[in-house]
Amino acid sequence: MRVTFDRDTCIGMYQCVAEWDAFEKDLNDGKADLVGSEEESEDVFVLEVPDGEELDAKFAARTCPVDAIEVYDDDGEQIV
Ligand code: SF4
Repeated sequence: MRVTFDRDTCIGMYQCVAEWDAFEKDLNDGKADLVGSEEESEDVFVLEVPDGEELDAKFAARTCPVDAIEVYDDDGEQIV
């Protein structure tokens, strides 16, 4: 499972931080950071979801008010 995070779209409401500790607050930028991710394209970050954190990743994606977080299964199909 893979998560993508569009940091440009993020408006820093931090609901995701409450759902999954892979997300941390960056109060200087008013954005979240996806810890351990790689920048796939400009301001879009990707992380392979660690085992056991799949539910947290999905909750984080569902709670984001601006849909900055997307979750994909191993076949590349979007789940959230
Ligand atoms: S919930 Fe969405 S808008 Fe809020 S900090 Fe997380 S990614 Fe950004």
